[in-house]
Formats: sequence, C-alpha cells, structure tokens
Amino acid sequence: MDNYEILRNLQHYGLHFLFPGLLAFYLYRNSWKKAWLIMIATMLVDVDHLFANPIFDANRCSIGFHPLHSFYAIGIYFILFLFPKTRIIGLGLLLHMLTDYLDCLWI
Ligand SMILES: [Zn+2]
Repeated sequence: MDNYEILRNLQHYGLHFLFPGLLAFYLYRNSWKKAWLIMIATMLVDVDHLFANPIFDANRCSIGFHPLHSFYAIGIYFILFLFPKTRIIGLGLLLHMLTDYLDCLWI
C-alpha cells in the first residue's frame, strides 16, 4: 500500500465508523451508543454489492451503480431523515452515501 491508498482508506473507515460516533455523541448525548450502533448498522446497505459482479471493485463508484446506492434510494433515505422516528437511520444512510461518494472522487 502506498501513501495514497493509506490516506484513502483512512478517510473511508474514519467516515464510516468514527464520524457517525462523533455525530451520535453530539446529537444524541443521552443515547449516543445506541445512535452510533444504528448508524453503523446502515452499513448493511452494502449487501447490494453482493448482486454485483465482481462483488468488490475498488475502482468502481458505488453511487448510482448498486440498487441501494441509486438516486431513488437516496431519495428514500432523505424522506426517512425528515421524520423524527426514522431520522437517525436516514442520517446514517445519507452519511454512508456521502462517504461512498467521496470514495468516487479518489478514483
Ligand atoms: Zn456503500
């Protein structure tokens, strides 16, 4: 791994795991652990990668390629974000999309 790859991975995993934690702590001080877990659970939308061939391709942009990373799906995540009950899930999903999108910029 060269420096470029290390930096890219740091950004990816930092945004996927650490940033939701900070956000959860800031927004849901009383139940930040639960909020953090929910946001990490939104990582499950990556199951749609299993339907792709090949399953993993570091040089492929997920956004707009996989069904749960399509612009329609992102619209649904935004709707989830609008309602207080599902806001945390929507927020986690939108953050996930943002992280994947940032990855696309490195390609
Ligand atoms: Zn993803």
